[in-house]
Amino acid sequence: MSTTASYTMDTFTADLFAALFTVKKDGAPSDEDRGAAAELFRQAETGNLTGSIVDLFAALARFHEIQGWTPEQLGLSRQSLEALAAKHERLDEHRVTVGGRVGQARPIVDAARSRVAEYLDRHPLEAPSGIEVWDRMLENQQRIKNVLGMSEDDWNSYSGQLRHAIEDVETLAKVVDLPERAVEDVLRVTKTYRMRLTPYYASLILPGQINDPVLLQSVPTGEMVDNAGVEIPPVAADHSPARLIDQFYPRVVTIKATNMCAMYCTHCLRLAHIGAKDRIYSKEAYGEALDYIRANPEIRDVLVTGGDSLVLPNSMLQWLLCELDSIEHVRMKRLGTRIPVTTPQRIDNELLDILEASSDKKPLRVVTQINTAQEITPVSKAAFRAISKRVAAVMNQAVLLKGINDSSVKMWKLCETIQEACVRPYYVFNCSYRNPQFKHLRVPVAVGQSIVESMYGNISGDAIPRYIATAGGKIPLHRTNVLEHGHGHVKMQKPWSGEQVTYPDPEPQEYARQDFGFAKYEK
Ligand SMILES: *Cc1c(COP(=O)(O)O)cnc(C)c1O
Ligand code: SF4
Repeated sequence: MSTTASYTMDTFTADLFAALFTVKKDGAPSDEDRGAAAELFRQAETGNLTGSIVDLFAALARFHEIQGWTPEQLGLSRQSLEALAAKHERLDEHRVTVGGRVGQARPIVDAARSRVAEYLDRHPLEAPSGIEVWDRMLENQQRIKNVLGMSEDDWNSYSGQLRHAIEDVETLAKVVDLPERAVEDVLRVTKTYRMRLTPYYASLILPGQINDPVLLQSVPTGEMVDNAGVEIPPVAADHSPARLIDQFYPRVVTIKATNMCAMYCTHCLRLAHIGAKDRIYSKEAYGEALDYIRANPEIRDVLVTGGDSLVLPNSMLQWLLCELDSIEHVRMKRLGTRIPVTTPQRIDNELLDILEASSDKKPLRVVTQINTAQEITPVSKAAFRAISKRVAAVMNQAVLLKGINDSSVKMWKLCETIQEACVRPYYVFNCSYRNPQFKHLRVPVAVGQSIVESMYGNISGDAIPRYIATAGGKIPLHRTNVLEHGHGHVKMQKPWSGEQVTYPDPEPQEYARQDFGFAKYEK
C-alpha cells in the first residue's frame, strides 16, 4: 500500500473524512457489516477504476449516517482510506476528488434528478408521442381507409389525402367517435367556419379520450359560434404596406402567398382570411409583392406564409424562391407550413430538391407548427428529418392552448419530441385575444410563464422555445430572473430552484474605459 505523506486533501475530501471519523457510538458492527466494508475496500484497491473507490466512500457515508459506524469501527484505517482518496484524484482526468464526487456532485445530481421524476413518470400517459401510440393510429388508419374507400396509393399520396379530406360532419362522425350533441354543434358551426381534416390527420385522434388534443385542434365546437362577439381586426390590416405583404419589422416581411391550408385549425389566427374560399393568387399579385421587396433594400429576410406555403404547387414555389434569391438584398428566406404535420405525404423528392437548391443559394428555413407530441409520428418525423437535411433549419412555432399543451409535462414532451425529429423549438405563442371564436382555448400568461420557465435547467437549452405574445409585433413574455441591479453585481434567481445568487457585474466606469487591449500600447 502506498503512503500518503505527500497527499494534500481538498476541503471536500477533508470534510468527508472529518464527518466519517466522528465517533457516534461505542461498540462494534456485525461481522456481516465488517465483511461488506472489507469487500468494498478490496475492490477499491484493485485495478485502476474510480467507480469502486466512489462506491466504497458512498457506502461508508451511508454506514455512518444510518447505522452510526465510523470506518475504523468497520475495520478500515484512516491511512488506508487516504491512500485510496489520493489514488482517486490521481486516476481522474480532471483531478476530481472523491470528496467532491461523493459529498458534492452526487447529491447535486440526485436533487436535479428529482426535478424531472414527475415528468418521467407522467409523460407516457399524459402526453404520448405519435411514435409511442403508432399502433393505435394504424388501427385508426385502417378503419378510416375502409370508411372513405381509400386505396393504399390514395393514402400515401398528397393528392389522395386532399381528395378524401373530411369536410362535413356526416363523414367525420363515421371516422371519429363524436358524442351526439357534438355532431349537432359541428353541423351548426360548419355553416360559418370551415372544417377540413386530411384522413391522415384524422387518424391521429385517439379514441376514448375526451378533448383529444388533435380533435380539439381540428374539429370546431359550438363555442366557436357562441363565443362570437366583436372580432378585433387582425393587426395585419394596418401593417400591410403592399399587396400580399405584412411588415412589422424593418428587416423582415411576410408574403401571404395563399389563403389555403391542407387542414384548418380551430385556433387559427387568420380565421377571417383562411379557408373561407380557396383562392389561387395571380402572378400579378406576387409580382407586386416582389416589387415592394425589390424597392426596399433594408428588407433582408422574407417569410413566405399563408395559409400554408406548401399548398402552392412545386412550380410556383420554385419560381417564388428563385425570384427572392435574385434580389440582392434578400439574404434569407423562410417557408411557413403545417403540412409536414397534417399531410406529410406532400414531402416528396421533387419538393426536397427545390428546397435544397434554394437553400444552397441563400439559407432557407422551414417554420412549422406542432402543438403536441402526439402529432409527431414515424411518418411526420421522417418528413421533418428529410427536410432538415436539405434546408438551413426547421423551427417550430407552437401555440399555447388549453387542454392541448398547457402543462409542463405536455410542453416538455412536445419540445423534446420535436427536437428528436430535427425540429428546433423556436416560439410558443400565447393564443391570440383577437378572435373571440377561440377564447375557450386561451391560457393565462402567468401559466405560460411557469411552463416555459420550468424547462430551464431541466431539459436541453436548445429545446426551450421563446414565449411570445403577438400584439402588433412579437413581445417576449419570459419572466425576469434578475431581481436587483447593484453596483458591480446583480442579484439573480435560478429558475429551477428559486435559489438566489449574487453575480458579479462589471463596474460602469470600468466598462466605459476605452484604453483596453491593444489600445493600451498606443500611449
Ligand atoms: C412573426 C412575424 C415575422 C417574423 O418574426 P421573427 O421574430 O423574425 O420570427 C415577421 N413579420 C410578421 C408580420 C410576423 O407576424
Ligand atoms: S395551418 Fe396556420 S394558417 Fe392554416 S389554419 Fe392552421 S393556423 Fe391557420
